[in-house]
Amino acid sequence: MSDAVRIEHLAWPVYDRRVREDEPVVILPVGSLEQHGPHLPMNCDAVIPTTLAERVAVRTGNLVAPTICYGYKSQPKSGGGNHFTGTTSLDAATLVATVRDVIREFARHGVRKMAVIDGHYENNMFLVEGIDLALRELGRDGIEDMRIAKLPYWEYVTPATIDYAWPDGFPGWPLEHAGVMETSVMLYLHPELVDMAKAPRHAPADFPIYDLYPPDLSRIPSSGALSPSHIATEEKGRRFVDDYVSGMAGALAEAFGAKIRSRRKSTHAG
Ligand code: ZN
Ligand code: MN
Repeated sequence: MSDAVRIEHLAWPVYDRRVREDEPVVILPVGSLEQHGPHLPMNCDAVIPTTLAERVAVRTGNLVAPTICYGYKSQPKSGGGNHFTGTTSLDAATLVATVRDVIREFARHGVRKMAVIDGHYENNMFLVEGIDLALRELGRDGIEDMRIAKLPYWEYVTPATIDYAWPDGFPGWPLEHAGVMETSVMLYLHPELVDMAKAPRHAPADFPIYDLYPPDLSRIPSSGALSPSHIATEEKGRRFVDDYVSGMAGALAEAFGAKIRSRRKSTHAG
């Protein structure tokens, strides 16, 4: 990364000047430590939003906060479930409080624009709650002008990429856990962490409409992946990442308006 976009890499006076003079959007990636089948590392949900955040920040002249690398408990129908060895999760209250505290601290130092990029399906409403509690607390401290965007990166895919990635039909995002999208993106970003020889070829998981607690483990593929991923390729990953970076850079410009600097690079940003 030629541009210094990661806050933790900056000396504090540099960061202080950036916050005051540039009024940057601070992008906070939130992920999980969660099994992703026999062929992918357990950091997918953290490393993907982190890398996307870095590329969006380089393109738009903004900053990236250190990633929250743990998330809410994996659910059978969206992440295989919390019973797999390695899936290491937070209670909801812990995640909510962590998000609330981090936002409040950035605000205390003068940041007034933030974007939360979620890499783990189960985090969603707990990020909403952390954002809401932070804004309520800041309002009571007289800070009324903090604005926060929340972006689920996978929604920024284009129909053309979906057709290209799943020529036989898109299974839907929940069943995409450790599927074609995440596997392709990891092949593009971190091929050294992917073992395609172990990529599952089994049918997509077949879940009932209800949820059981504790879960019925017989309905969950033992691989941990919820759909087959042997058709994943690096080129598919490149197209997904291009869509996500372009889409989210545009979303930040739309959400935060003209304050976003246009620093589009001559080289391909994807
Ligand atoms: Zn994932
Ligand atoms: Mn996940």
